[in-house]
Amino acid sequence: MVSAVCTGCRRNEAFYFRQYSGECLCQRCFAQSVEAKVRATLTRYRMLHFDDHLAVAVSGGKDSLALLYILVKLQKFRPKTVLTAVTVDEGIGGYRDEALTIAADACRELNVAHHIVSFKGLYGFSLDEIVERVCQGGQSELTACAYCGVLRRRAINTGARAVGASKVATAHTLDDEVQTVLMNILRGDIARLAKEKPMSDEVHPMFVQKIKPFCEVPEKDSALYAYIKKISFQNSPCPYASQALRNDIRGMLNRMEEKHAGTKFTVFRAMEKLRPAVEETIKKGVFKTCVECGEPSALDLCKVCELLQHVR
Ligand code: SF4
Ligand code: ZN
Repeated sequence: MVSAVCTGCRRNEAFYFRQYSGECLCQRCFAQSVEAKVRATLTRYRMLHFDDHLAVAVSGGKDSLALLYILVKLQKFRPKTVLTAVTVDEGIGGYRDEALTIAADACRELNVAHHIVSFKGLYGFSLDEIVERVCQGGQSELTACAYCGVLRRRAINTGARAVGASKVATAHTLDDEVQTVLMNILRGDIARLAKEKPMSDEVHPMFVQKIKPFCEVPEKDSALYAYIKKISFQNSPCPYASQALRNDIRGMLNRMEEKHAGTKFTVFRAMEKLRPAVEETIKKGVFKTCVECGEPSALDLCKVCELLQHVR
């Protein structure tokens, strides 16, 4: 909390000092600034056509609900854009059920159609069952998150395709994007470094194009936005959360941001400038069709089917 006049409207009392920009903002100007940032990002990367059917991946967490809330607000500038929320039910007992209820309530309140896809329905196993079969018994070196990440990416695409969406928006924040950049560098995964971007360009009729309208919104701003707008969201962490490397990087980036405000934006912008050069060093693969499931894949067997074989 700060005792100063808002640098936006120069009228109201400021409640938030935004360190990276030096602004002191009242609640109204702060909320407007986040909404303006999302509009600017949509325009800058030409993320949306006026008549897109946009699926929004809504987990029930603060970021995805704040994004949904803002996209519904922005619909008044884009009356031909159709929104549908897509929620993935991984099947995590005692955790996902609460999030599903929160997501469903929010969609009802915002008058947005809601579509749920489940791991159980798509793959025959819930994440709990997968963990029980392969992770706990030590049959796999992969963590629950490794399975969940691959299967959820596919589930979001399948869900978006099922509702007839032309694009799918995820609520990855600036923090998520910058953490991913550093993770890929630390792992030496240059192909992924080139691939993870604000708007996907993997062209295949079975891929719904992915956009990240929150890629320039810091997680702190997204959380504060949800708080100001009194958006209910799930706060408890996933019981399998164990991404050691990401957690270390998150801590390091937050400490850097505290000492050197603007660090996260600097890394994000640096990656945007570097990407064309990185892309040139990567051979773009041609998609094959997975022999098992018929989805596009770099190899004969896609990653999803490979993981499911381990589970079976
Ligand atoms: Fe899935 Fe891991 Fe996230 Fe839990 S923490 S939802 S297991 S990726
Ligand atoms: Zn497959």
